[in-house]
Amino acid sequence: MATLQEILSENVRESDLYEKLDRNRVRCFACGHCCPIPDGQPGVCKVRFNRGGTLYVPWGYVGGIQCDPIEKKPFFHAYPGALAYSFGMLGCDLHCAYCQNWVTSQALRDPGAVSPPLGATPQELVEQALDLGAKVIVSTYNEPLITSEWAVAVFREAKAAGLITGYVSNGNATPQVLEYLRPWVDLYKVDLKSFDDRHYRQLGGRLEPILDSIRRLHAMGFWLELVTLIIPGFNDSDEELTRMAEFLAGISPDIPWHVTAFHKDYKMTDPDDTPPETLLRAARIGKRAGLRFVYAGNLPGRTEDWENTQCPNCRTLLIERCGFRVLRYNLTATGACPSCGHAIPGRWYPAYKGQLAAMPFLPGRRGRPSRFSILSS
Ligand code: SF4
Repeated sequence: MATLQEILSENVRESDLYEKLDRNRVRCFACGHCCPIPDGQPGVCKVRFNRGGTLYVPWGYVGGIQCDPIEKKPFFHAYPGALAYSFGMLGCDLHCAYCQNWVTSQALRDPGAVSPPLGATPQELVEQALDLGAKVIVSTYNEPLITSEWAVAVFREAKAAGLITGYVSNGNATPQVLEYLRPWVDLYKVDLKSFDDRHYRQLGGRLEPILDSIRRLHAMGFWLELVTLIIPGFNDSDEELTRMAEFLAGISPDIPWHVTAFHKDYKMTDPDDTPPETLLRAARIGKRAGLRFVYAGNLPGRTEDWENTQCPNCRTLLIERCGFRVLRYNLTATGACPSCGHAIPGRWYPAYKGQLAAMPFLPGRRGRPSRFSILSS
């Protein structure tokens, strides 16, 4: 029986994001590692590899599909209540010990991470997204930057069909990959994990390329939201949270910042789960730093009014939420506060039509058999 590595090495095509170097080496630009890769070797992510001086990249499969409320991504300022058809491939350029998607992200790196790839075409994915009533299609679950060629192929079809597109990413990008994505990606969520380079090195990355990418994403006009998973003892000091929030506010006070609660996962089981008081402290730090839209996540109903959107001008309640559920929507057709007319930054509906699903579900359930089958060789 073929190994996962053998199956993945057959489901590839040539990359759009590399340059050829001497001695049959290549340099990949899909993520901030910019790996120089010798012939016959993979990059740090393990899923992009050099064969004979050509960089091959994942193609023609998904590692997982799920339908999520867009609030789960989380995007709070983009089409509230929309169904976000979410797909991922396999692999990641980082190896965070607390990854909540480790079954897909750590494939090929951790033998315990087994998520059989399902053969798929961009057309099939988009058809299923439309069948299920999705408005948005999102590349997530593994790091989408490292499988950008496939995401763009899917998003070309998606845009032609009228869907909004999004990335849920660690933000370890390069100028080249962001230029490549700009025509095809509307919404971009970055998971800013720390403001300490030593912490990023523990996770397999560096802080600077991520900060640089956040600046670029905003300057290039992607709709950008930031998330920080607050892990007790890792990134929850007042000093670190303040520096992080001030950095974001310095780019734009209108960037939404989600501070979310950690729960024990994968290999990180030492820290305690994040208590509500820590999230409230982080949220207040964000507000003090000048951010206008700060949200506390993963502890529904336990974080005062930090799940809601209020008008920063007159404090009118604009969107009321509990967890992924949208309880009230109170923006005008142009995305402004109905009381004072203040324009709220984001991507809004001309008319809000309610929420399709407040909880995630798998497309194969609800009586619809999955149309994708497991790849084998
Ligand atoms: S995606 Fe990143 S980790 Fe993977 S080969 Fe390219 S530069 Fe290296």
